[in-house]
Amino acid sequence: MKRSSLILIALFALALQSCVFRSSIDEQGNITVRTANKLMRSHGVRQFEKMKRKKVISTDPRFTEPVARVAERLKQVIVLPKAEWEFVVFEDLSPNAFALPGGKVGVNTGLFQIIGDDDQADAILAAILGHEISHTTATHAQQRIINAIALIAVGQLLWSSLDSSELDNPEYALAGFALAGYLAEALPFSRKQEYESDKMGAVYMAQAGYNPRASIELWKRLRDYHRINGGQQPEFLRTHPHDDSRIEALEAFMPVALRFYASSK
Ligand SMILES: [Zn+2]
Repeated sequence: MKRSSLILIALFALALQSCVFRSSIDEQGNITVRTANKLMRSHGVRQFEKMKRKKVISTDPRFTEPVARVAERLKQVIVLPKAEWEFVVFEDLSPNAFALPGGKVGVNTGLFQIIGDDDQADAILAAILGHEISHTTATHAQQRIINAIALIAVGQLLWSSLDSSELDNPEYALAGFALAGYLAEALPFSRKQEYESDKMGAVYMAQAGYNPRASIELWKRLRDYHRINGGQQPEFLRTHPHDDSRIEALEAFMPVALRFYASSK
């Protein structure tokens, strides 16, 4: 075996290993706290400042009051190292929310068409914020960037090391399979992050004293919203799981989340 082939295979092994999904929550619902690097945090803060300048910030108490109320309770239970928490409501009709590294959270006014104003409203909002903040506490964006860099590095190395005499070398075929395997893994990777954030969000909301069952209600309402406003792509094409799949996964996780809810009382 040529030295270059050995190096290649070693690099594949390394890249594949670095791309193994690092779970931030175990079967019992225990959450591993991760710290986003300084670069990600300052980028998050800068992006948030930019959005606050560009978008219209809502001061409507119908939206700002529930967000402040739920945020206050979530902040007590969510450990996000070096967070400078800020929750802002943006005038935007799309039903969306996001959290950026550094503890910056945005909620669109359009989300309140899903949240409603019934007695489950605060718990549903807690499910949304818990989910979004979980992406930050689990450093999901950082993990995706690390993966992309590993993939690019391996791809470049593979390309530069090929010459025509080696193209039908079985070792390269093997390496090709490894790369294909990795690529196949890349899309479900962000789906895994979604499932993970659903679970972590359910734990956070339960610890803050909100019934985690509202997270299932949230996804049912979003499923109905998606049905009315244009269907979803088949699951294999999507980086996000199908609504029905996440409802099922959340149902399966509910006994764990409910234990946290019971001990929050
Ligand atoms: Zn998400």
